[in-house]
Amino acid sequence: MEQSTPKTQEDVRRAVAAAHTVVVKVGSSSLTQPSGHLDVDKLTALVGAIAQVHMLGGNIVLVSSGAIAAGFGPLGFSSRPTDVATQQAAASVGQGLLMAQYEAAFGRYGIRVGQLLITAEDTMQPRQYRNARRTMATMLELGVVPIVNENDALASNEIRFGDNDRLSALIANMVRADALVLLTDVDALYTAPPSEPGSHRVPFVPNVTALIDEIRVGGSGSGVGTGGMVTKLEAARMAVGLGHP
Ligand code: GLU
Repeated sequence: MEQSTPKTQEDVRRAVAAAHTVVVKVGSSSLTQPSGHLDVDKLTALVGAIAQVHMLGGNIVLVSSGAIAAGFGPLGFSSRPTDVATQQAAASVGQGLLMAQYEAAFGRYGIRVGQLLITAEDTMQPRQYRNARRTMATMLELGVVPIVNENDALASNEIRFGDNDRLSALIANMVRADALVLLTDVDALYTAPPSEPGSHRVPFVPNVTALIDEIRVGGSGSGVGTGGMVTKLEAARMAVGLGHP
């Protein structure tokens, strides 16, 4: 598969535009407010864009973070809790709120959504992996948009993904996606964290595995999620290595 991976920027853009099955990953900071509540306007705008692709016949799998970030505000915390048990409790509250908004927003386009919560263990166990793949394939056949998140409430600290960037690369492989799209609150990759003077935008990366020396990336700057550009590059490397642009 690797040899058929498109190489020029134009090729990549064309392949992404023509992609039939697309995994879209969106991070907490693109869906929530710093106060720990959902940002319904942002969520609605995202759903509008996905609905258009869906209505043109595309298969979309949405990997959405935001459970912890949507749950800590309603629980009375003014910032993201730092201990794992409270994060997990916040996720269990926020995940329901998140799905309720997705259901309402996709419902306006007549599109059904289904929730799939996955742990890192599930991606390692052949039986769970096959079940998840079969469920997702069937959902897509039925015209349902699968909405995937890590099962935060059950994930054990030692082997959790934490961010959803790497999970989304595995999901792209699971559904044999034609493209993986990582959406974030930064407009592109930069040569250093964009707040630093002198850092500049990198609009196209011809070879993500050869990038390490030129780029200095950081973790999340948002305060509501984790991840950041480090895990996005890891996800990009994984996906491209598995043959998914
Ligand atoms: N699964 C986490 C959530 O939904 C991901 C948070 C993150 O990306 O940091 O909140």
